[in-house]
Amino acid sequence: MVGPSRFKGKSFISMRDYNRDEIDFIHGVADEMMPLEAEGTDMAKGRVMGALFFEPSTRTRLSFESAMLRLGGGVTGFADPGVSSAKKGETMEDTIKTVENYVDIIAMRHPDEWSSRKAAAVASIPILNGGSGSWEHPTQAVLDMHCIKHAKGSLDGLTVGLCGDLLYGRTVHSLMIGLSNYDVKLKLISPKKLAMREDVIKYTEGKVEWEATEDLTKVIGDLDVLYATRIQKERFPSEEEYKRFADAYIIDNKMMAKAKKGMVLMHPLPRVNEIATEVDSHPGALYFKQVHHGIWVRMAIIALALGVY
Ligand code: ASP
Repeated sequence: MVGPSRFKGKSFISMRDYNRDEIDFIHGVADEMMPLEAEGTDMAKGRVMGALFFEPSTRTRLSFESAMLRLGGGVTGFADPGVSSAKKGETMEDTIKTVENYVDIIAMRHPDEWSSRKAAAVASIPILNGGSGSWEHPTQAVLDMHCIKHAKGSLDGLTVGLCGDLLYGRTVHSLMIGLSNYDVKLKLISPKKLAMREDVIKYTEGKVEWEATEDLTKVIGDLDVLYATRIQKERFPSEEEYKRFADAYIIDNKMMAKAKKGMVLMHPLPRVNEIATEVDSHPGALYFKQVHHGIWVRMAIIALALGVY
C-alpha cells in the first residue's frame, strides 16, 4: 500500500520513479487539496520553499509558489539567473548547497537535462523538478493526468494523441512515461524529424501501445484527448531549422470539427500558434482549466515531500 512515507523527504525528479499506485495516490491527495485551496490550511506553516528558475516560466513557477503559500508556507527564490550568483559564475550545485541552508524544499528549472539529478545528488532537502532541459517535466505530467481523470473520469480506455514537438518537448516525455502506467493507446503525431525521443520509446516499450503519424487529420477522429505542444524554438540548433517546423500543426475550429464528440484539447502552454484563439470557446478546449490543476497537484507534491500531509 502506498502511503505518505513513500514521498517524505524525497525529491521529485522523473516520472520514471512513479508507478500507477503512486500516481493515483498523489492524485488522491490533490483531490483533498481542492477545497483547501479556498479554505486555506497551515499544513506547511513555518516551512519555506526556494523557487530557483534558471529558465523562463510563468505557470510552473507561479503555481509552485502559490501552492506553497496556500499550504501556509513561505517562498523565496529567483525567476532569472541573471540576478543570482550564477551570473558571477557560480555552479548550479554550489547554488543548491547554499540555498538549502535557507529553505526546506527547492522547486527548480534549468536548461541542463541533468540539472535536477545533479541538484538532488548534492542536496539534503527535496528537489522538485520543474523542467530540466528537454528531458522531463514530471510535475506537469502529474497535473496533466489529474486533469484528464477529472475530465474523462478515468485514464483507462482512452486514446490520447500527443502532437507537435515530441523530440524537444519535455512535457510529452514525462506524460508518455506517466500514461504508460495506464491502459491507454497513444497516437504520436509529429513531423518525422521531431518524433518522440528514443529513450522515452525504449523506456515505455511493452508498457503502452502507440502509433506514430505525421497527419493529425487522419487520427483526430480516434482521439479522446488531444495534447498539443509548442515547437520548442529555444532547443533548435538554428532559427532556420525552427522555421521549417514552426507551423507544423495549427488547430482551428475546422480541425476541431473533425474530432470525435467529447474530445478534449489540452496544451501545457504557452501556445504560440498551435491553437487558434477561436478554439478557446469550444466546449472541448481544456487548456486554461488544465492550468488550475497545477495548484492542487503541486500542493500535494510539496506537502508530501515536506512530510506535512
Ligand atoms: N511550459 C512547458 C514547459 O516548460 C511547455 C512549453 O514551454 O512549451 O516545458
